[in-house]
Amino acid sequence: MKENLIIAIDGYSSTGKSSMSKIIAKNLGYTHIDSGAMYRAVTLYAFQHQYIAENKIDETSLIANLSNIKIEFIQDSLTQKNLTYLNGINVEDEIRTMQVSKMVSPISEIPAVRDYCVALQQQMGEKGGIVMDGRDIGTTVFPKADVKIFVTASPEVRAKRRFLEYQQQGKDIPLDEVLKNVNERDYIDSHRDYSPLRKADDAIEVDNSQMNLEETVDKVMQIIESKF
Ligand code: C5P
Repeated sequence: MKENLIIAIDGYSSTGKSSMSKIIAKNLGYTHIDSGAMYRAVTLYAFQHQYIAENKIDETSLIANLSNIKIEFIQDSLTQKNLTYLNGINVEDEIRTMQVSKMVSPISEIPAVRDYCVALQQQMGEKGGIVMDGRDIGTTVFPKADVKIFVTASPEVRAKRRFLEYQQQGKDIPLDEVLKNVNERDYIDSHRDYSPLRKADDAIEVDNSQMNLEETVDKVMQIIESKF
């Protein structure tokens, strides 16, 4: 297989993109980059600095301070898991809360936030050998990616998976609240003016409503291998 490919995995919320990307990157000896974690880190920063109050975003202050936001991924030496660091602090758990999930899509709509995150993603992936998951990787971040996958599944299946994940973490969030969040994020992500979520013309669609993680990984690996 060709080395240093750029593999873009886009799709709707809670389709298991990050979990599959992590395994695929490991199989290939590549680096996995979770672009959603960057938008989540920016959202957390906005909360920490009171740029979000009562669901309203102080865009001017956030934009003025974007250059003060430093996002890094650092591998945990014990678990080998890539952890998200915001200004030197591990925020991997904090960026996954429902509070952040509820505001991340409105934050991601702000063009200056997107420009900031896209530039960082392009810089992290420029040498190739990466699997990057997100919403606009195959369309905007790496329009010339070697492989583009677009993952879908029914909203109910996705909400159920996320609900079970929360339960495993001891978080008791009602299924209807999780479903509402999944639907709201999908709507905002696919209707924003700037770099919306959409399937790239040359992306291969994988509907994993009826597949588990292992089956999805097998399917995507077959697609990658068939291309080279
Ligand atoms: O991937 P994840 O669900 O963690 O992403 C959280 C949010 O970040 C998405 O709902 C979307 O609003 C935003 N996002 C984005 N573009 C990306 C990745 C994520 O707008 N490339």
